[in-house]
Amino acid sequence: MRTVIYPGSFDPLTNGHLDLIQRAAHLFDRVIVAVADNDAKSPLFTFEERLDLVSQSIRGMKNVEAERLPGLLVDYVVRRGGQAVLRGLRAVSDFEFEFQLALMNRKLDERVETIFMMPRETYVFLSSRVVKEISRLGGDVSAFVPSHVGRALAGKRLVG
Ligand code: ADP
Repeated sequence: MRTVIYPGSFDPLTNGHLDLIQRAAHLFDRVIVAVADNDAKSPLFTFEERLDLVSQSIRGMKNVEAERLPGLLVDYVVRRGGQAVLRGLRAVSDFEFEFQLALMNRKLDERVETIFMMPRETYVFLSSRVVKEISRLGGDVSAFVPSHVGRALAGKRLVG
């Protein structure tokens, strides 16, 4: 059983995240999307909302599950029997941070391998941050997120 863990904030999940999840689901027996419960980033969506939006998006993908990422990533990966951590690489700008993170995780635990995947071209410039900004300004995000995420973003606009 080959398991990959895909950690992130998913604030909120975008089509770029989904693209990576689908690619990983073809390569691994099991994909666990691990949603970070980290308020230090002041997310727009609460942890419960972020997990719920991910869960709705992966419904129907039978080897993909979503759950909370508790504590230190490397400890969690070993505990869940994961072989690797999945991260996305979009542009060169992602590289430095991701490189540092992957090597730090390796230092913390040699057994934890990190693999990188690239999304399809259309999603290379897509990030949760940009989607939130477009939505906040009243723009159309339907090409960038699943429809239930679009509705959740619109709901936040009304509240905010
Ligand atoms: P984090 O706060 O951990 O960076 P994110 O939810 O922003 O969490 O991203 C989780 C992972 O998904 C990161 O590795 C990020 O580079 C990747 N990612 C985000 N958006 C995209 C995208 N459009 N295409 C490919 N990978 C992406």
